[in-house]
This record gives sequence, C-alpha cells and structure tokens, in this order.
Amino acid sequence: MNSRRTITFFSIVAVAIFAALIVWPRTAMTQQDQAPEKQQMPTIDEYQPKSTLVTKEHKVERARFPFIDIHSHHWNPTAEEVDRLVKEMDTINLRVMVNLSGGTGEELKKTVAVMKGRFPGRFVVFANMSYEDLNAPGFGKRAAARLEEDVKNGAQGLKIFKNFGMDLKYAGGKRVQVDDPEFDAVFEKCAELEIPVLIHVAEPSAFFDPWDYHNERWQELKEFPGRARPPAKYPPFETLMTERNHLFQKHPKTNFIAAHLGFHGNDLERLGRLFDANPNVYVDIAAVLAELGRQPYSAHDFLIKYQDRVLMGKDIYEVNEYKWYFRALETRDEYFEYYRKRHAFWRIYGFQVPDEVLKKVYYKNALKLVPGIDSQAFPE
Ligand SMILES: [Zn+2]
Repeated sequence: MNSRRTITFFSIVAVAIFAALIVWPRTAMTQQDQAPEKQQMPTIDEYQPKSTLVTKEHKVERARFPFIDIHSHHWNPTAEEVDRLVKEMDTINLRVMVNLSGGTGEELKKTVAVMKGRFPGRFVVFANMSYEDLNAPGFGKRAAARLEEDVKNGAQGLKIFKNFGMDLKYAGGKRVQVDDPEFDAVFEKCAELEIPVLIHVAEPSAFFDPWDYHNERWQELKEFPGRARPPAKYPPFETLMTERNHLFQKHPKTNFIAAHLGFHGNDLERLGRLFDANPNVYVDIAAVLAELGRQPYSAHDFLIKYQDRVLMGKDIYEVNEYKWYFRALETRDEYFEYYRKRHAFWRIYGFQVPDEVLKKVYYKNALKLVPGIDSQAFPE
C-alpha cells in the first residue's frame, strides 16, 4: 500500500467508528423510551419511583416551640464553627444544643469555653470517659473522679459511646460488659452529681442479623459493611439488651437516656415495658425518626402514653434535616420521603402530638433531666 491509499483507508475506518459511536447510543435511547419492558431490571439504587399521591403538605421549616437537641456531636469545635452554629440554630428555633462529644480533662475545658463560654445559655456539654487506664487497678474510681472534675469544669452530663459493650476490651481480650461492676462507681457518681447518662448500647437489631435479602438494612450494610455486627465478632443484640437493662436496674437513682429509642423503635410495646420497669429510663429519638414515621398511629399513642420519657434529638448535625422531625411531630402529613434512604427505604407519616406533649419532647423533659439549663428561655 502506498501512503495515500493507507490514509484514505484509515479515514474511512475512523468515520465509520465515529458514526457508530453517535448512532448506537441514540438508537438505544429511542428503544428505551419506546419499550421500557425491554430494559434490564433497575438496581435498588436506580429505582426511584416518584409518588403520584396528591395530598396536603405542610413543610415545617422552624419548630413550633423553642427546643433542646439532646443528641448532637461537635468534636473540638472552633470559635468560627460555633458562631455559624448559633446563627443556624436561630433559624430553626433550636434554643439549646447538647454537645455529647465534650471529651474529658483539658479537651472538655476547651469545648466548654468555646461553646458555653462564648454563648451562655445556648450550649450544654457532656463529658466522655477515657479508657486509657482501663487496665490499671482502680479504673472505675478514677473515672468517677475525672467525671466529678469535668462537671466542676462545666460538663452537665455523661455520654457513653457505642464501643462500650461491643468493642471495648480488657488487655486480656475480655469484653467490657455493659453492666460491668468496674463502672458502678461512675454511674453512682452521676446519681450523686444529679447528671444524666446518655448511653448508646448496641445498634439496630438488623445489623446483628445475617446480611441477606431479607435484612431490613441491607442497603446500609452494603454501603457501610463495617456496621454489620456478625456473631463471630460481637455479642448478640439480646445479650446487650439484657446487660443494658441490668445496668438500668442496678442504678435506680441514676437517670439514663437510652439513645435512639433504645433501639426498640421497631417494637414500641417492648420499649413501653422497659419504661414501666425502670422509672429512671428515658430515650431520645435521634436518627430513628423513620421508625416512628412508619407507624404513625402507634407512635402517636406511644408519645401520649410516655410523654414524660421521650426527648428530641437529631444526632449528626445538619441544620436542613431537622425539618423532617418537625413535620413528623407537628403534622399529619402522609407518605413523605425521609431524608436518609439508607435508614429507611420507606416513606414516613406525621403523627402530630398535642402541644403539651410536643413541649415535653422539645424541651420540658430535657429541662427536668439536665441541670443548669435556663427554663426562662422556654414557654410555660
Ligand atoms: Zn450520636
């Protein structure tokens, strides 16, 4: 072949490929539009049906009453972050934010200074336990003493994270049980100091179940496989519940707030029995709104019956996500989308509670439990 013929040959090939690239996708698209039945099955992520339901909607951008968020996390916030927080809080009627991530010692002092010091009356800081000296004899008494010091330095409660009971182990490998007697001194100290313990025990029960197509949290476990709690590595859900309930019984003078509806949001009767047996137990609704929103009648009746035991909380802070809580608590809107699909592939319903109950959930119950919040900032 001479060079001219070669060029002509390759030009023809190039044009043919180019034409094919343009025409093929268009043909495919036309076929898609015309014949959806020939499509492949969509994946669970691709299937996003738009509801055709026409019904009354009440978008609630701002809570009906000032409220306390009992469950928020801000690790070592800077002054600028706190300034921004307060501005955002004002837009949604969030009067007092409880930062559960205060740490202990110097870290706690810094967080207290940057939050409470700069905006008195707008923030509460909870202390956390350090497990650094867990293996040295006398840990419980030392942890209790540190907590007392933290409270002197401005902490108004103790938050216990979920590693407690699941991942936390002694040097020999023995798991720290939720009702481990070593920690009795800490919980008794909370009663003495009259501060509440907000405690996260276990995880949604589905995380302990096999990750198969029947698992309600299949999608979340696909996205975050590390959230699975397989029996080879973790105690069963029921073991953790038994230990937790024993802890509540062992310290009747200590007030406990079980985070995330105590992971009984999918079984409110069970949560009711826990309340009946333990007058010192409360819950927050942080990150489990979808549990209440899928059973609006039961949720409504439950909140009426246990109106003194439930507290407003959000968990991961995002100012634009509170409105789902307002809408669920304050309206009877039906079948609306939830803000985090991996928590709930279902839509939720408002379960509107009367104002007196709403006030308790929004702030009155927190005012009772957490010392040092100015009640003057809230309606009667
Ligand atoms: Zn949390």
